[in-house]
Amino acid sequence: MIEPLIQTDTLIVGAGPIGLELAVVFKTMGVDYVQVDAGQVGQTVSWYPRQVRFFSSPERIAIAGVPLSTSDQEKATREHYLAYLRGIVQQFELKINTYERVLSVQKQNDTFLVQTRRGGEQRTYQANHVVMAVGDMHHPQKLQIPGEDLDHVSHYFDEPHRYFGQKLLIVGGRNSAVETAIRCSRTGAAVTLSYRRAAFDDKSIKYWLLPEIQALIKSGQVTYLPNTTPTRLCETHARLVKTTAEGEIDPSGGDPIDVPADFVLLLTGYRMDTSLFEDAGVTLVGENQGPEFDPATMMTNVPGLFVAGTAAAGTQKRFRLFIENCHPHVSKITRSITGQSPPPGLINDAAKTYDLPES
Ligand SMILES: Cc1cc2nc3c(=O)[nH]c(=O)nc-3n(C[C@H](O)[C@H](O)[C@H](O)COP(=O)(O)OP(=O)(O)OC[C@H]3O[C@@H](n4cnc5c(N)ncnc54)[C@H](O)[C@@H]3O)c2cc1C
Repeated sequence: MIEPLIQTDTLIVGAGPIGLELAVVFKTMGVDYVQVDAGQVGQTVSWYPRQVRFFSSPERIAIAGVPLSTSDQEKATREHYLAYLRGIVQQFELKINTYERVLSVQKQNDTFLVQTRRGGEQRTYQANHVVMAVGDMHHPQKLQIPGEDLDHVSHYFDEPHRYFGQKLLIVGGRNSAVETAIRCSRTGAAVTLSYRRAAFDDKSIKYWLLPEIQALIKSGQVTYLPNTTPTRLCETHARLVKTTAEGEIDPSGGDPIDVPADFVLLLTGYRMDTSLFEDAGVTLVGENQGPEFDPATMMTNVPGLFVAGTAAAGTQKRFRLFIENCHPHVSKITRSITGQSPPPGLINDAAKTYDLPES
């Protein structure tokens, strides 16, 4: 049986904070659109570790003109922000096709054919415009070493209780690794932290974490192995070798070190899946291999195909795009598609207030 085409003016791919902010504007303006997400609303935030706090202040990650207020005046947690996003969906009665993954985006004449799958059901949409608000953290950055797929090895930290009384090796030296080391050490894990650089970057580590980790290392509660990287993971231990100042394996670094480990967390970052962009004919540019787009409109080199949110950055080695400086994408795309500005008050103007780089 041939499935009927589902017609819409604009298909929004992704219901993260920026995709949702755009949907609120479209709904309010009466734009004909459909929004799909491969997972749940706020899917990327949902896999943050439990109780983790945003480094961005609440007012900067608020969307759609709805205040985000925390009961303790601190940064929002994962749980708080997910509840906030659910509230936005309810308040604006957004219809989102969740758990529906976009498989391909193809331009045919002047329209796009978008293939999706939800469970066993395949759908095809025909749209005049497609907005890709798909984020930039789809897969872990793998180290490509033997043992990386063993059961006790993971690229995701969920919560610390699992590691109570266990020997835990954490690999990485940015926020995720440092925060995980602090939390797991305080939960009673014997934590070893391996980082390929000599020292943490004090400009990018959350300011409240740096003194904490330094104190734990100084007191011996966390064993810190700077300038090391694993080359093999086994059931009982990890083999580490020395690295150079640039973080590369040092051939003259001496004997490897075997670190006993019941569990290993490889917190070495995430990369963007650009396959949908490539299939659609979008050119990838620069070191981050992000989509080519016009910063005035957010339209890619494929006419009618837009990019919104952190997806615009590609795989971010150093973070440049955050929720707080992606809000302007929503206004630019709205103006480009509808010819009108969004109604006042619906878009967070944090980027203006905080003098962030224009994105
Ligand atoms: C632990 C942690 C802490 C962080 N803290 C902060 C912070 O303090 N401030 C900040 O700004 N950022 C933070 N980030 C990054 C933050 O998650 C992103 O900035 C934010 O989620 C980007 O929003 P977005 O709407 O652009 O994309 P996302 O939130 O990534 O949303 C993209 C959506 O697209 C969907 N999608 C992807 N592919 C498909 C497909 N093929 N078909 C259908 N749907 C698809 C996904 O399921 C997802 O729901 C943090 C990240 C982590 C891991």
